[in-house]
Amino acid sequence: MSVNERIALVTGASRGIGKAIALRLGQMPGVTVFGSSTTEAGAAGVTEYLRQANLKGQGIVLNIGDPASIEQALEELTRVANMPAILVNNAGITADNLFIRMNIDEWSKVIETNLTGAYRLIHGCIRSMIKQRFGRIVNISSVVGVTGNPGQVNYSASKAGLIGLTKSLAREVGSRGITVNVVAPGFIDTDMTRALTPDQHSHLLEQIPTGRMGQPEEIASAVAFLVSSDAAYITGETLHVNGGMYMS
Ligand code: NAP
Repeated sequence: MSVNERIALVTGASRGIGKAIALRLGQMPGVTVFGSSTTEAGAAGVTEYLRQANLKGQGIVLNIGDPASIEQALEELTRVANMPAILVNNAGITADNLFIRMNIDEWSKVIETNLTGAYRLIHGCIRSMIKQRFGRIVNISSVVGVTGNPGQVNYSASKAGLIGLTKSLAREVGSRGITVNVVAPGFIDTDMTRALTPDQHSHLLEQIPTGRMGQPEEIASAVAFLVSSDAAYITGETLHVNGGMYMS
């Protein structure tokens, strides 16, 4: 799985799925990994876990909801390393509410972070990928971007949007050596799902043929495959990693 000397940027790497992805990509030969958090403390935590794992890379402060923060982070990356050849748009938030009660702020902040944030970051990185004639972009969507979920109109719209973005962009940049794909996790054991009530939890488990939640490392393996040379001919695809919860 050699990808030569490459810089990987993983957003939302302070914990959960993003942390597992950063650790997994950092193990790939030739990859130096930058993992983001919105806080200095979170970024320091990323630097520390990469150091403890003996991997090349560091934490970086980045708020994908803030264009100035994105610009600053990419400038810092260029200064200390290079522009990313591998970009994993993992950072995401929820603000659940039934549609009838969902206000415009709950709608906007989720779309702005999960979808517009990915747009902004890709926009900042794509020229350099085109110049290098190499790029691997993986957008982390969700099973609910395909199935829908009551109480998550904003979140599922943002995650479905990522799938549309991915397919169109894959068609635009495929000839430049850049692949753009989605990994759509199901029900994964992280802080995000620990916020569910016991009732929601057991209801979700009933819908999973494998009978268990996924682990962040199982999402990281799918991402590692998609950025590897083994997946060079896969683009515009959505890889579902959900224990059979949804089958396309
Ligand atoms: P998590 O444990 O809640 O972690 C979220 C990460 O996103 C944190 O590192 C956080 O950084 C970062 N983040 C939040 N807002 C941000 C912003 N404005 N700018 C930059 N970073 C921001 O989430 P997770 O469960 O690992 O989920 C990771 C991704 O997988 C998300 O996109 C989520 O929608 C998707 N997903 C998760 C599941 C699941 O079951 N867990 C299922 C399907 C899809 P700091 O807090 O350090 O600042």
